[in-house]
Amino acid sequence: MLDSSMIDAARVRSNLERIRERVPPEVEICAAVKYVAAGDLPALAEGGIELVGENRAQALLEKQERHRDLFTWDFIGALQSRKVKDVAPNVRLIHSVASDSVLRRLEATPAPEVLIQVNVAGEEGKEGVAPADLTDFIARCPVPVGGLMTMPPFTEDPEASRPHFARLAELAAEHGLERLSMGTSQDYAVAVEEGATIVRLGSILYA
Ligand SMILES: *Cc1c(COP(=O)(O)O)cnc(C)c1O
Repeated sequence: MLDSSMIDAARVRSNLERIRERVPPEVEICAAVKYVAAGDLPALAEGGIELVGENRAQALLEKQERHRDLFTWDFIGALQSRKVKDVAPNVRLIHSVASDSVLRRLEATPAPEVLIQVNVAGEEGKEGVAPADLTDFIARCPVPVGGLMTMPPFTEDPEASRPHFARLAELAAEHGLERLSMGTSQDYAVAVEEGATIVRLGSILYA
């Protein structure tokens, strides 16, 4: 991890204030920290970030070793089953459970709560459970399922994400699930309109 100070606390705070104008207080803002060096995490906290999401198990452990007490920690990245033992005991929530091999590892090392990642658009080669398989997948999950997460197809047009967010909200309602982790820097406002309870923001917070 580089330790260069790329993050300016005052800038994060003003970005956060601007974002909060479009994100009601009950919706959590999870700062995606995959590009943030461990040494920059205190500036994020100073800027008002309380919840962070990491993508890689190794980075999660390294960053927590130095700054665990500064934040609530979630895991948002593609999760390899052999990393479940490192991630599950160390986070509030795993957003990205999407394979049976991960479910099996969660039996041995439970996480407090997970979200199921759904491939709502049915994209080839994309992480996520198919909507048609969701009921059975949830039934097989050995730990509490709090909600759903999705990464819609990449687009420059935030409106293009709206039907995918709406579909995820519909699936969550059908399964009686409350948490909806959806929306990134470019489409978070649309995600909030469609019922997001957690948005995952990176670039827009640090720019
Ligand atoms: C990086 C990342 C984000 C944030 O993306 P930005 O476009 O920088 O806001 C959100 N979710 C996941 C899973 C990510 O990996």
